[in-house]
Amino acid sequence: MLPPNMDKRFQELKEGFSFSCHPGVPCFNECCRKLTLWLTPYDFLRLRANLGLSSDEFLDRYCTVEHGQNGWPMPRMVMLDNERETCPLVSEKGCTVYPDRPGACRTYPLGRATKGGTQAGINEEGFFLVREEHCRGFEEGPQWTPQDWIKDQGLETYFHMNDLFMPLLTRQAPDPNPQVIAKKMQMFFMACYKLESFRKFLNQTRLTEIFELNPNRAEILQNNDLELLKFAFQWLQFSIFGDATLTVKPEVKKRMEEKAKQRGMEQPLGPVGPMGPQGMFPGS
Ligand code: SF4
Ligand code: SF4
Repeated sequence: MLPPNMDKRFQELKEGFSFSCHPGVPCFNECCRKLTLWLTPYDFLRLRANLGLSSDEFLDRYCTVEHGQNGWPMPRMVMLDNERETCPLVSEKGCTVYPDRPGACRTYPLGRATKGGTQAGINEEGFFLVREEHCRGFEEGPQWTPQDWIKDQGLETYFHMNDLFMPLLTRQAPDPNPQVIAKKMQMFFMACYKLESFRKFLNQTRLTEIFELNPNRAEILQNNDLELLKFAFQWLQFSIFGDATLTVKPEVKKRMEEKAKQRGMEQPLGPVGPMGPQGMFPGS
């Protein structure tokens, strides 16, 4: 059931919905303009891989970075400065990155709400319909259930990756010191949206030697961006919130505790408590 006073476009989904979108609909491309299109880390990874661009090139060419939910920095696609304010990735024939279009573009006209996102998954999932006035896709087409639509639009991995991202996005950086928060935001953005830099950081700080990781996984992180992004989410939860998403090797933990004792620190290392800026952030 939808909460009262929701946006009128959001409608309850009873049994299913009929929908079809193709170049023959009179509203073709109407939805690819005037958008506030935030990109999740997985959207960003797919788009830049499709276009063969580095993270910096993609950011420079297509995005602005703004502080979104809970102040975390996220890229947003910049619409073109033309009369229609079109998405920079649309052409007369439709979306030029169709196989890798963002999750929000694939999910429409379905809406998805989740509860309780953790690394282990979400606890609850619900669906609703989003009916844009200009959209004529509802007037024709086959009948869909949410599950059929998810499969047809290749949304499974998008949902999975976004569910892994949510435990970060839905929380506030837990530190009153603005300088520490700024560093955490910087780390969040690098790990989520600049995987080339995060991989360098991973190697410079020898993170894979600090945590208990399967040796195959440590190797895979060097070449596989999707796996690196999953590790980045775990690392951020560990380092920002002190969550037990990674386990420090006992010998490393002992060494760090001894060092902390020498420095007179009481709380040396997450996940027993949120890790401070010392040692684990670039430039610290
Ligand atoms: S990314 Fe593709 S589907 Fe999404 S708004 Fe842009 S052109 Fe349209
Ligand atoms: S407005 Fe609806 S039917 Fe028209 S192109 Fe967009 S999604 Fe398809």
